[in-house]
Amino acid sequence: MTEASCIFCKIVSGDIAADIIAESPNTLAFRDIAPLSKVHLLVIPKKHYQNVVELQESSPAVLGELMSQATELAGQHTNGSFKLQFNTGTEAGQTIFHAHAHVLSDNSKDGS
Ligand code: 5GP
Ligand code: ZN
Repeated sequence: MTEASCIFCKIVSGDIAADIIAESPNTLAFRDIAPLSKVHLLVIPKKHYQNVVELQESSPAVLGELMSQATELAGQHTNGSFKLQFNTGTEAGQTIFHAHAHVLSDNSKDGS
């Protein structure tokens, strides 16, 4: 499932470039284009779901895969202190309506 106007679907298809750092069968991880902290990664399902609730209801196994990817990357890119965030709904700050986890940390692994 894709949405023609969805930026993250276009990143999955390769129509929009991104700094992709990891991939699993059903997820993709890349750096946020406007990082809010030293480490700011996004982990998304390759298929389009509006938000984490729709992802959980439709494909809980893929949400599990996404969580594994996010925590693995947090282990690789941070010293173990990080935030894992799913903005859900406009009023909560969601701007891209393709489910995604933010991995945020100022505690990068190498201290840089
Ligand atoms: P939201 O506010 O929906 O939770 O998060 C969307 C995130 O996507 C924002 O942090 C924003 O900077 C990021 N973003 C928006 N457009 C692009 C893009 O084209 N490429 C990348 N890598 N990140 C994007
Ligand atoms: Zn999408």
